[in-house]
Amino acid sequence: MSITSNLQDIQESLPKEITLVAVSKTKPVADIEEAYQAGHRVFGENKIQEMTEKWEQLPQDILWHMIGHVQTNKVKYMAPYVHLIHAVDSLKLLKEINKQALKNKRIIHCLLQIKIAEEESKFGLSPSDAQALLASEEVSSLSNVHIEGFMGMATFTDNQKQIRQEFSVIKNLFDEMVPQYPQLKTLSIGMSGDYEVAIASGSTMVRIGSSIFGKRNYV
Ligand SMILES: *Cc1c(COP(=O)(O)O)cnc(C)c1O
Repeated sequence: MSITSNLQDIQESLPKEITLVAVSKTKPVADIEEAYQAGHRVFGENKIQEMTEKWEQLPQDILWHMIGHVQTNKVKYMAPYVHLIHAVDSLKLLKEINKQALKNKRIIHCLLQIKIAEEESKFGLSPSDAQALLASEEVSSLSNVHIEGFMGMATFTDNQKQIRQEFSVIKNLFDEMVPQYPQLKTLSIGMSGDYEVAIASGSTMVRIGSSIFGKRNYV
């Protein structure tokens, strides 16, 4: 199977209103070019340095999504171009994104990462911490960040019931917050292994890597 046909198969299986982020982390520029030639424009990376190197080499109309954990001291490298930061999990990080966005005269769109998995290794805010962050005066005073939704990662498991249960936590938070915060429009849940469940659970944005580009080889 080629990247082009994988991409087409997935795109066809997704409801039209769902945004597909093609996760190209660890993959060469040539792979992204193939997806680009097939008409795809939205790519996700989990390391700022790798994303920036790719951004420099690839067409300017690509929308780059940072889906990985972000270190505050590296925000400046992506601030000139990043389209959406998925894994924001602290006020400190939001403030730094705001500062760098101001420097670049941009408004940077962000998602709050919500911890829904039971695995200790996964980052993110509890639903009540996310709620508190949205409600805080300090956050509303940040003129150059725009929080447009939530992102979550379910536990890596075959247990469909558990995955559904974890996605329902973030979906319930989303539904609860939308009336108060009408800017919330994005629910980023779903990866190669669980995107069908995620869509049934109310996802508006899926992040799919290996089902498009093949298995990753970590060196
Ligand atoms: C790698 C990654 C993905 C994509 O994972 P696949 O299983 O390859 O689809 C999605 N989201 C995040 C946060 C990732 O790090």
